[in-house]
Amino acid sequence: LKRHSSLLILGLLATTVIPAEGQERPTIIINASLLDGNGTAAFSGALRFHRGRILAVGRITAEPGDSVIDARGQTLAPGFIDTHSHHDRGADSNRTLLAVVSQGITTIVIGQDGGSELPLGPFLRALEIHPLAVNLASYSGHNSIRDSVMGKDFRRPARPLEVERMGQLLRADMEAGALGLSTGLEYDPGIFSAREEVLALARIAAELGGRYISHIRSEDRWFWPAIEELITIGRETGMPVQISHTKLAMKSLWNQGDSLIHVLDRARAAGIKVTADVYPYTYWMSTLQVLFPERNFTDSVEAEFVLANVSPADGLLLGEFSPDTSLVGKTVAEIARMRGRSEAGTLMALIAESMTGDESVIGTSMIEPDIEKIMRWPFTNFSSDGSSTSLHPRGFGAFPRVLGRYVRERGVLSLPEAIRRMTALAASNMGLADRGRLAVGLAADLVLFDPAASGDRSTTRQPHATADGIASVWVNGIRVYDGQRTTGATPGTVLRRSSRGTR
Ligand SMILES: [Zn+2]
Repeated sequence: LKRHSSLLILGLLATTVIPAEGQERPTIIINASLLDGNGTAAFSGALRFHRGRILAVGRITAEPGDSVIDARGQTLAPGFIDTHSHHDRGADSNRTLLAVVSQGITTIVIGQDGGSELPLGPFLRALEIHPLAVNLASYSGHNSIRDSVMGKDFRRPARPLEVERMGQLLRADMEAGALGLSTGLEYDPGIFSAREEVLALARIAAELGGRYISHIRSEDRWFWPAIEELITIGRETGMPVQISHTKLAMKSLWNQGDSLIHVLDRARAAGIKVTADVYPYTYWMSTLQVLFPERNFTDSVEAEFVLANVSPADGLLLGEFSPDTSLVGKTVAEIARMRGRSEAGTLMALIAESMTGDESVIGTSMIEPDIEKIMRWPFTNFSSDGSSTSLHPRGFGAFPRVLGRYVRERGVLSLPEAIRRMTALAASNMGLADRGRLAVGLAADLVLFDPAASGDRSTTRQPHATADGIASVWVNGIRVYDGQRTTGATPGTVLRRSSRGTR
């Protein structure tokens, strides 16, 4: 209670108007179609909450003194949980997080792809003093730890003493509440790690009740060994392991969604707790460098191979390019035409030019049938992999896009099942015990939306267009989004690994 009142005071200092509903007196949302997160059909009823917790749900009526909100038949669901988010980027100066709350997301899980704040403890404590609009949990990132220990001398396996030092840093992060260990094995410096190094660290995370999440070692050329590595880590440690932003990102892998699901089902049948997340786009966003796993950026044969098999030149769109920002938004094919050079030559030249600067690229490498196969797997939850500032439309559109395109238009999942993936399953896959369902005693993280109107509007040309159909969003019982606007409230809390977490 003390904590809630201090949050409220901070909110009052930060903004002129703070919605008092759910704090001063109980709030009841009536005339709602309730989707409780368990995947069962919607039922009409009401939900009552006070001081951040759900008091009652179902066929209930308002009590004297309740603040009453009429949902007018719209759907009320648990707030969505984004299990792979980069929306912490720039959040210092953007605590209301329009990109996040406008999608109905109430919890973001950061520290992904092996990258996290190091050490995690002080970062999380600062967030409790200056909270965001949404809840936040973090993994401890292998790349951050490896970078801290090995510095510039990272293009090799770590020595035993270095692995030991990494283990100490990981242990400290775990004690500060990290959900577990995240890796980004397609990126520097993690790409140079031996499996034994990752396993040694994973064992520490497991021993402390954590879990493992991974941008696997390859999403294209060496996809199957990368999946095998993740499954091995699950088998050897016994902890839950999750594939981040699961994708088959190369021509020769297309239409192998069934094979992937078969491999994952076989692992689960053997007792390995493997799960996955996916975002609803055929294009990813990363760096140009990641296209060259051998880091041989001047190898024209490799550049030709990339363009022929991983992503075509007209499917590679620059998202950032600090050496020449006029190239942002252009494809490698367009730049090649502008410069009168070959596409492969242009790709290599762009990497050379950006060696000391920043670059990112949106790459089209996946096909719809695989995305839909991955989505249908019952252990796949949704993620955005997005941020508030990037050119990839997922930062503002991922979750509503699932509701519009994949539920309503394509019928890939039923609405209750899609909501289960965004809520209860996501909470379970992250080990978050008291979120993700409409149930008495759980946190009042809520989204009120219109399933008939929900959908994304963001595109690569308009990446920051907010979604349609999301009416209101509450975090810990405080309204953070209403009428297409943020309310200014920042009631998010830091979620630390729970001993009650679902394994
Ligand atoms: Zn990633």
